[in-house]
Amino acid sequence: MTVDVEDYFHVSVFEGVVPRERWPSMESRVQANTERLLALFDEFAVKSTFFVLGWVAERYPSLVRAIVSGGHELASHGYAHRLVYNQTPDEFRQDVRRAKALLEDAGGVEVGGYRAPSFSVTHQSMWALDVLLEERYRYDASIFPIRHDRYGIPVSPREPFRVERSAGSLMEVPGSTVRIGPLNLPVGGGGYFRILPYAWTRWGIGRLNQDAQSAVFYLHPWEIDPEQPRLPAGWLGRFRHYRNLGLTEERLTALLEDFRFAPVGTLLRTRAQLAAGPLAPLALPYVW
Ligand SMILES: [Zn+2]
Repeated sequence: MTVDVEDYFHVSVFEGVVPRERWPSMESRVQANTERLLALFDEFAVKSTFFVLGWVAERYPSLVRAIVSGGHELASHGYAHRLVYNQTPDEFRQDVRRAKALLEDAGGVEVGGYRAPSFSVTHQSMWALDVLLEERYRYDASIFPIRHDRYGIPVSPREPFRVERSAGSLMEVPGSTVRIGPLNLPVGGGGYFRILPYAWTRWGIGRLNQDAQSAVFYLHPWEIDPEQPRLPAGWLGRFRHYRNLGLTEERLTALLEDFRFAPVGTLLRTRAQLAAGPLAPLALPYVW
């Protein structure tokens, strides 16, 4: 289970509508919405990975502390929500470095995971993995093995895999898909969870689980907030952002009833232990 902690006006579709200099003057709803998610996860005893935007951590350090003290994994969504392929490697480095420092300061824990805004690690921005390694991140969750207008590497592996780079190696945790014929179709959350019937998600995750695979589910605090202020955008952007906001919390509750979830860090450790062979101890004590 993963949550990208950002406000409704941070979303890439509104990048031209709400410039960054206007962010501080916007009505913020991220703290209240994230607290509702924390309460819902508590109800189901679910621990999640929260990829928090550095900009949010800077303004709401108490929210970061609430995430950590709730036993969840703290991870990074970068600082300013800029698409990776629209930055130079140096700008990207400053962004992920600043986010990691703010999060670690606020949370008092080491931050090892990163997810790019709009899954924007693509063929044209693979250098980002080198920068993440050099900036002491341990895993990335930004590559979606699908075709999409803004992101995706369709030929990329569908399960978590180790990426070897000159700076070392890190784990890549892709967004979840089911394979149907020649296509990888997303099943792990976001617009696909809100726009398609819940039965699609339940079937897709069930199919992955049957193959002994975990699904990586993702959502945003603004997705359970039908009262959020409406911002102008093109019809596709409006459809993707606003469709079925009023249904998401109910669907999320059904999802939490139907499946068991863990943070990404736990998933990676479990896989590493399984890969180490049957003699390796399966339950190591650790806190995320
Ligand atoms: Zn985001």
